[in-house]
Amino acid sequence: NRRISLASRPVGAPISANFSLEETAIPTPASGELLLRTSYLSLDPYMRGRMNDGASYAEPVAINDTMVGATVCQVVTSLHPDYQAGEWVLAYTGWQDYGISDGEGLIKLGAEPTNPSYALGILGMPGFTAYMGLLDIGQPKSGDTLVVAAATGPVGATVGQIGKIKGCYVVGVAGGAEKCQYAVDVLGFDKCIDHKADDFDAQLKAACPKGIDVYFENVGGKVFDSVLPLLNTGARVPVCGLVSQYNATELPSGPDRLSLLMGTLLVKRIKMQGFIIFDDYAPRYNEFFVDMMDWLQAGKIKYREHMIDGLENAPAAFTGMLQGENFGKLVIKVA
Ligand code: NDP
Repeated sequence: NRRISLASRPVGAPISANFSLEETAIPTPASGELLLRTSYLSLDPYMRGRMNDGASYAEPVAINDTMVGATVCQVVTSLHPDYQAGEWVLAYTGWQDYGISDGEGLIKLGAEPTNPSYALGILGMPGFTAYMGLLDIGQPKSGDTLVVAAATGPVGATVGQIGKIKGCYVVGVAGGAEKCQYAVDVLGFDKCIDHKADDFDAQLKAACPKGIDVYFENVGGKVFDSVLPLLNTGARVPVCGLVSQYNATELPSGPDRLSLLMGTLLVKRIKMQGFIIFDDYAPRYNEFFVDMMDWLQAGKIKYREHMIDGLENAPAAFTGMLQGENFGKLVIKVA
């Protein structure tokens, strides 16, 4: 049993020395428990926050503890009345080959799920986040201009595609020409702008001739600086994530823009609201699941995974994701 633990807390971008890969004995389940073998491990931006020691909406990972994370597993041994060996489950066993569960929080995926790893992405946490953040907080209406960054990741790609289903004019923001082309050609966005372009600000403005009605905030930083003056009166801004800031060690340099933000919110009566998906919306998971299954089966939503083989590659893949190296939902194939 290999496990990856947090060896030290990163300062800035995580480095390999922040993680430790260890061999341990395969754990033995007690009565009422299950032994789970990890098939797929999800890597998600929120894990960067768990590596910090500080107050947040969830407890940090302790030094020497296994890195946390959602997993798709197969039951190896079941001493639990509700589960059988061979069954697939969505679990939260973290960065390791094997985990023990007492069944709490497990979601059954059946005996032979078609795409088991989808439970970590389009049919799981990121898809649910896109759905609730956009529909409940963003309140998109037909004809609205919707802007979303990290446009080819699991949250952003889903936000934009749901926006198209709801009749919005959708502008993505992504890193590099290849991702931008994919957002338009495959995901069906109307436009997608490369945030690395020198004239990003001007390109975004030109792509949004009627201003912005919904800005789904995934990244913060300079993308938000360019979005702020384009927001229309009555705009909605679901604040989902600020991935451009997750490795930051201090506040950004330059002039203080807080009064500019507050003034814009006031004068334009903008609604800006943060949310934490399962804390705020867990009871509505089924509503999302039913719609998303329909859209996937009808071909209205496309989904791309970036699958990397081998648990040992998780630390580098994770660090790369925070810098845009992933192209699609980042998943580690463990077994
Ligand atoms: P992604 O797979 O999209 O990965 C993050 C992406 O962010 C990178 O691929 C990169 O894409 C982009 N990025 C990184 N740095 C910058 C930067 N400086 N400027 C602009 N873009 C940058 O992640 P997810 O889809 O899983 O998550 C998207 C966001 O949603 C994150 O902020 C995450 O924390 C948040 N989230 C929030 C939840 C909640 O409950 N509130 C739940 C789930 C996710 P590119 O190369 O295109 O720039």
